[in-house]
Amino acid sequence: MSKAVFFSLPAHGHVNPSLSLVEELVKRGEQVIYYTSPEFKHRVEQTGAQFRTYGKKLEPLSRELEGKHGNLIYISACFLQMCQIIIPEALTQLEADQPDYILYDSMALWGKIIAAKMNLPAVCSITTFVMGAGQLPNPQILFSLIKDIAHIGQFNDLSKQVAREFDIAPISLKEMFTNKADLNIVYTSAFFQPNSHLLKDGYKFIGPSIGARNDKDSLDFPENKPLIYISLGTIFNNNLEFYNECFKAFENTEYQVVLSVGKMINMAALKNVPANFIVRRHVPQLEVLQRASLFITHGGMNSVNEALFFDVPLIVIPMSADQPIVASRVKELGAGIYLEKRRANHRNLKRFSKLILADESYKNNSWIIGDSFRKSGGYRQGVDEIFAYKNLSL
Ligand code: UDP
Repeated sequence: MSKAVFFSLPAHGHVNPSLSLVEELVKRGEQVIYYTSPEFKHRVEQTGAQFRTYGKKLEPLSRELEGKHGNLIYISACFLQMCQIIIPEALTQLEADQPDYILYDSMALWGKIIAAKMNLPAVCSITTFVMGAGQLPNPQILFSLIKDIAHIGQFNDLSKQVAREFDIAPISLKEMFTNKADLNIVYTSAFFQPNSHLLKDGYKFIGPSIGARNDKDSLDFPENKPLIYISLGTIFNNNLEFYNECFKAFENTEYQVVLSVGKMINMAALKNVPANFIVRRHVPQLEVLQRASLFITHGGMNSVNEALFFDVPLIVIPMSADQPIVASRVKELGAGIYLEKRRANHRNLKRFSKLILADESYKNNSWIIGDSFRKSGGYRQGVDEIFAYKNLSL
């Protein structure tokens, strides 16, 4: 048995796939300490890992980040500040823990620095596509970088500060989103990853890490109607205007619609919810997807992975972050339609939903990607890879 420490990025899309991996590590005898925010305490403990919080000092910074996740340079600067807060305290704790290896989320730079400081083997957990694998810069992402350019000075200053403080080379903006380790676990398939053939060794594509979520809130819906599931994920979901367009698009239709609206929206502002809609702040997404004929999504990597794992075709309306890249890949492989957010009105939602539900090629192409996922081995394969790497490194 070895002892591992996991440094997560405290967000559903980053925590969800990692927890199935951690649960499997624990099942196979590893002791795991998992750093995240208190919101995930219960779910971490359900895996058998030991929960550890990043601590209260991080709270003001986390509050500042709310609503700004699309500002890629600004959030990178915040991540550097997080390094300054997290690393000294975690190093003291880990001196006492004496772990054998470190796992870290690809956006949790602090995990990479801690592993280097302690001279420990490290595994990177990548919940998006591997960035920079010969992809052309995406116009929507370039545009959001330009919009956020005012923060580049702050980012560069912090990068130099962090380099001096922890005796490392200054980190570039691009590295903030990759943070490669010797072993990199990617929760999608080599088939779905754009240009996977250009990636050098060290990337293991294990497919979506789909385990039991123990979601409490099961849903009841009529079995005989085609089900459309709509969600903008857990971060970019405060979008009343879009939900009203969904109501208009699908009221008085033959579809059953499940709409997940997240925790930020004012529920009272959602007026005239059509009778064929079930609206919740959070739904058991894996359960709903297994029944869905179509998923209208913001293109969060986990949501798309999960849908395709169950062969569900998609309308992808990217809001921010890496979502335009995910949407482009879905479109390229014919598993769905890329709908720009400025065009996501009730007419287009209705028109494209009809199109996808009538044209079997979308479902068939989703199945092809889903098949590549199911053959990639999931979290069990991930743990096999970690054990193989550990045996070489320890
Ligand atoms: N999710 C869920 N129920 C919901 C909405 C989201 O379980 O009602 C989960 C979903 O299954 C996925 C994660 O939250 O694992 C969202 O991650 P994603 O990368 O898709 O988007 P993000 O929230 O990071 O933008």
